[in-house]
Amino acid sequence: MTALDGLPPLRQVIAAHELTAKKSLGQNFLLDLNLTAKIARQAGDLSACDVLEVGPGPGGLTRGLLAEGARKVLAVEKDARAMGALAEIAAHYPGRLEVVNADALEIDPLAHLTPPIRIVANLPYNVGTELLTRWLTPKVWPPAWESLTLMFQREVANRIVATPGSKTYGRLAILSQWRTDARIVMELPPEAFTPPPKVHSAVVHLVALPEPRFPADAGVLSRVTAMAFQQRRKMLRASLKGLGGDVEGLLEEAGIKPTARAEEIGLEPFCALARLVAAR
Ligand code: SAM
Repeated sequence: MTALDGLPPLRQVIAAHELTAKKSLGQNFLLDLNLTAKIARQAGDLSACDVLEVGPGPGGLTRGLLAEGARKVLAVEKDARAMGALAEIAAHYPGRLEVVNADALEIDPLAHLTPPIRIVANLPYNVGTELLTRWLTPKVWPPAWESLTLMFQREVANRIVATPGSKTYGRLAILSQWRTDARIVMELPPEAFTPPPKVHSAVVHLVALPEPRFPADAGVLSRVTAMAFQQRRKMLRASLKGLGGDVEGLLEEAGIKPTARAEEIGLEPFCALARLVAAR
C-alpha cells in the first residue's frame, strides 16, 4: 500500500527502518500525512522558498513540505537511523531534498540555502526553545529567514504569544514579539503523535518584522528583561537595583511606575527603558 504521495505509509517506513522512538532524542512522530501537510501549509506558499527543517525523523513533515510544493528542503537530523528513510524521500523528489546528519545546535545550515528561506520544525522542547532564541538573536536584523513555523509544547507556545498581565508573559514573549509577528496557528492533542507525549502541543508561526517593533539594543534589552523577570513578582525599583544609579528616575523617564512589576510591563516601555540604560 502507498500513501497519497506515492511513498509507503509512515508506519511501514518506521518498521522497515527500525525507527523505534528514542526518548533521549525527544522522538514523538507525526504519522498522519494529512496533518503534516496541514502543518506545512501554515508556513504559507513554499513554491519559491528554500525550507530548513530541523528534526525530520522518519520524514512525515518533510513529505508534507515537499508535497505542498517547497522549492527545496534542507533537513537536519541528529539520528543516523533516520538516514535510510530520508534517502527514499530524496529519491522520490529528485533535487528537492538534501539531508544532513548532524546536531542542529552544532551547525549553521542557513548559509547553505538560497533566500527566501523559511524554517519549519517539530522539535523536542529544549532544542526548540534554544534554536528559537538563536534564530531570534542573529548578529544583524532582518535575519536570513522570513518565517518560523515551529511545533512546541502548548505551554511554550503560550509563553511566546503571551501578553502583559498573563501568567506566561516573560522574556520569551518579549524577545519573540519585539522582532516578529507571532501567533498560534494549530493545536494538537497528545494522540496526534506516536508515541503520545504527556502534554498538548501547538504550532507557532512567527514572521520576521523588517525591523524590531521599537528601537532598542538587543543586548541591553536582554539584560534589562533578565533582571526584571528574575523575580517577576517584585517591584521593578527593587528588581532593577542592579542597574545602579537612580533606578526610580530611570523607570519614570521610561514611563514605568517604579512600583510596577515586570509581568505588567509591555514591550514598548521595556524598549524605552533599554534605550535609556544604553544612553547612560
Ligand atoms: N519531524 C518528525 C515528525 O514530525 O514526525 C519528528 C519529530 S520528533 C518530535 C523530533 C526529531 O528531532 C527527532 O527525529 C529527533 O531525532 C530530532 N532531533 C532531536 N534533537 C535534535 C538535534 N539537536 N538536531 C537535529 N535533530 C534533532
